[in-house]
Order: sequence, then structure tokens, then C-alpha cells
Amino acid sequence: AVMVGRRVKSRRRWWNVVRALDEFEEAASTPVGRLRQVVDAMAVEMHAGLASEGGSKLKMLLTYVDNLPDGSENGTYYALHIGGTNFRLLRIQLGGQRSILGHDVERKPIPQHLMTSTSEELFDFITVSLKEFIETTNGANQIRGKDLGFTFSFPVKQTSLSSGTLIKWTKGFSIDDMVEKDVVECLQKALCRTGLDMNVAALVNDSVGTLALGHFYDKDTVAAVVIGTGTNACYLERADAVIKCQGLLTSSGGMVINMEWGNFWSSHLPRTSYDIDLDAESQNPNDQGFEKMISGMYLGDIVRRVIHKMSLESDVFGPVSSNLSARFVLSTPLMAAMHEDHTPNLTEVAKILEETLNIKDVPLKVRKLVVKICDVVTRRAARLAAAGIVGILKKIGRDGTAGITSGRVKSGKSGKMRRTVVAIEGGLYLSYTIFQEYLNEAVSEILGEEIAPFVTLKIMEDGSGIGSAMLAASNSNQNVDTNT
Ligand code: BGC
Repeated sequence: AVMVGRRVKSRRRWWNVVRALDEFEEAASTPVGRLRQVVDAMAVEMHAGLASEGGSKLKMLLTYVDNLPDGSENGTYYALHIGGTNFRLLRIQLGGQRSILGHDVERKPIPQHLMTSTSEELFDFITVSLKEFIETTNGANQIRGKDLGFTFSFPVKQTSLSSGTLIKWTKGFSIDDMVEKDVVECLQKALCRTGLDMNVAALVNDSVGTLALGHFYDKDTVAAVVIGTGTNACYLERADAVIKCQGLLTSSGGMVINMEWGNFWSSHLPRTSYDIDLDAESQNPNDQGFEKMISGMYLGDIVRRVIHKMSLESDVFGPVSSNLSARFVLSTPLMAAMHEDHTPNLTEVAKILEETLNIKDVPLKVRKLVVKICDVVTRRAARLAAAGIVGILKKIGRDGTAGITSGRVKSGKSGKMRRTVVAIEGGLYLSYTIFQEYLNEAVSEILGEEIAPFVTLKIMEDGSGIGSAMLAASNSNQNVDTNT
């Protein structure tokens, strides 16, 4: 009787876990109907954010980029990129005619303590690294290329193409003395302290750099998305659609808008109790809600939270491991490695569970359950990002529904569609194959088979930095000869 009792109990425990998984899957589900609601909400919020300052959680920031690179740029330029986990240094040599003659990149992890220290410490670290980088890329030669593109991947209120103040930090950064300060001034001062005579010619969000590189190669590129540690998008808007800036005059009649879509929110988003807890315990509660469901900083932690809850409700994971309550122990790259474990016995899953979460010897069916959790989290993230992309296309009339929503007469759907390219960059999209597949598939699913062939997503690796150097080139006040 004791044996039977135990078996019944363990079956019940397994049942608890299966039920918890079902509930999670249901709450996180993204059927195409729900995605279309997110598309509509995104387009509506874009209008609201353009209509008035503070009109939406979408800030829809001006970038002062009114002309995108067209391939004619010439000369040697540097770029610095501070974003999420890594800090990047770049040097590019442009040869006109859409050609990049040379391209060096160095990636350095940003020491954790600098993310919460002072602006001087952070910027000195950056400019000293830049100095070393210039010395190695130039040899003993005199500095070539004095113009610097500065990619700063946080929300900035720009006052010109080369100035702007930090609105708030995201992605775990928190250096209080920098908020509301001009970030270019901070950098320019640090360049001075380091003895580098350089000119910050462009201050650029990473999404904007990505759009610039996309446009350099293909002039049908009208929007860009970054999905890395954080997430964001930007796109080319008509100047007269930026109602909050009456009379905005630009030479091209358009301007790139940095949406800061990480902060998008809508009641249609499939939010679960895990998302609510993650947000409440984060450094920026009530902020960056879309980002917390999509980007690399958070996906692993959502998975950890689900496993933690299951391990409290049943013993299928063995005794409750204290590692499970530590925030961010399960990083997104590790989660992706479990999700993409193709070994028959899921040995990679077992190894990661043991090494990072201290969960040992779980049977195959529990490992499979872990893979399923990763799948639910990743699929939701990728599909929501896809809905965001289609939301942008809808706002600019490139999702094939313009004639229907605006009531304009339209001869035939595909007859009027134009080829549209969206540039994509960011470690999560670039290196997580399943994520990429889910996202691409969802864009096609939402657009439908008639419209989908007109829309291309193009990877622009390092676009955030290279594009920023290109914008520095367009905004350079040096003459081309002295700069090459
Ligand atoms: C920032 C954006 C940035 C994005 C991707 C977000 O957290 O607010 O400015 O573009 O991350 O790096």
C-alpha cells in the first residue's frame, strides 16, 4: 500500500508540473489573432508618441538623421559603441561607390562595476581603450580619421545630430550622475583627458546605426530592429508626420525616429505571473515592458522563474536548489544552448542544469520539459518582436492594408506594394537560430502570403557601430582629402 501511495503521489507531482506548464503555455500563447492586435496597438502608439511629448509609452525620439548613407561616403572613420554586455571599437575605411575597403572591430566586455559607477570612470575606460585601439589599428602613423561616431544604446533626447541628454538607463546600467547630462559632452571631456584629439561627429542609437548600414547597401531599407541585450527599433518617418514638432524642416522631408520600442506596452501582450515578478524585482519596474518579454537580458531569467516555481510545487527537479532563486543565474546564451541541444539524451541540458542551477540527475522527461519551457519563452519573444515589426510597416503603409484602414481606394493589394527591407542586428537574433526562425516565420504569418514576399529582413551584423561611423562620415566637417 505504501508503494502504491508513493507512485500515486509521484504521478500527482508530475501532473502538477504538467499543469503548470500548460497554464504557462496558455498565458504566453501568441496566436496570429493576438499578434495582429499587438500590430494595431503598436501602430496606434506610434501615432500617439508622434502627436505629443509624453503621448505614449513609445517615446518616438527625434534623431536628427534626415539623410541616410547612400554609398558615396569616403575616408577613415572610427566608432565607439556602448550598449549592453559588450563595448565595441570600430574603424572603417570607406571608398565611395558602396564600398567598405577596410573594417576592424574590437569587442570588450564592460566590467560589471563600471555599469553602476560614475560617468567619469566609465568614459575614461572607454577612451583609454579607444586610444589603444587607434594605436594598434594605425601603427605608429599619425591618427587618420578624426571623426568619431558614438553609438550610445540608451534613450537619449537629442538636441542635434551630435548632442543629446540621457533620459534614463536601461539593461542594468545605472550611473545616476549621467541622467539628463549631455552624453557627447561626457565623451568629449574624456577624450580630452586621454589626450585624443577627435571630434564626435554623430551621436547615434544602435538601431539608427543599423538602419544607416542597411540603407548604405540597399535603399529600400526603411526600418531597423535591434534584438540583443535590449531591444529597439527605428524607421524613416515623414517630417510632417511628427506632429509634436510643428514645422520640423529637414533637407529630405523625412527623419529617422528612434521608437524606443522596448518601453512599448499594450493590454494585448500575453503577460504571465513570471513577467510581473520579473518586472517588480527589476531595476526599472514599470519600464521597458516589451523589452522584458523579448530581449537577451531577460529570457533566461523568465525560464529560471518557471523552473523555480515548478520545483517548489513538485519534486521532479529534486530538492529545491537555492541557485534557482538567484536572479540572472541562467543567462540567455545558456538557455539557448539548452533549447538547441540536439543530443538524443539532452546531455547539454543536464550539464547546464547541474552547473548553473545545481539541479542534478534529472530524468529525460524532465530535461524535455525544460526544453519545452525554453521554447515557450523564445517563441513568444520572437513572435512579439515580429508583431512589432509589422506594426511599423503598418504605420508607414507598407503592410499591404493601407487601402483598407485609411479607406483609400486601392486597385489591388500587391499592385501597389513596394519592396521593403528591415535591417536587423543584435546578438540574440544573430546567434539564436530558433529565435530567428520563429521571428521570420511570424512576420510572414502576420503579413499573409500575398504581402510577405515584398518584405525582407536583412541581417546587418555590427551595423550599430559601422552605421554610426558612416553617419559620422556624412556629418564630417573635415574635408575628404585630409580625412583619408
Ligand atoms: C535601449 C535602446 C537600445 C536597445 C537595444 C534598450 O534598452 O533603451 O536605446 O536601442 O536597448 O540595444
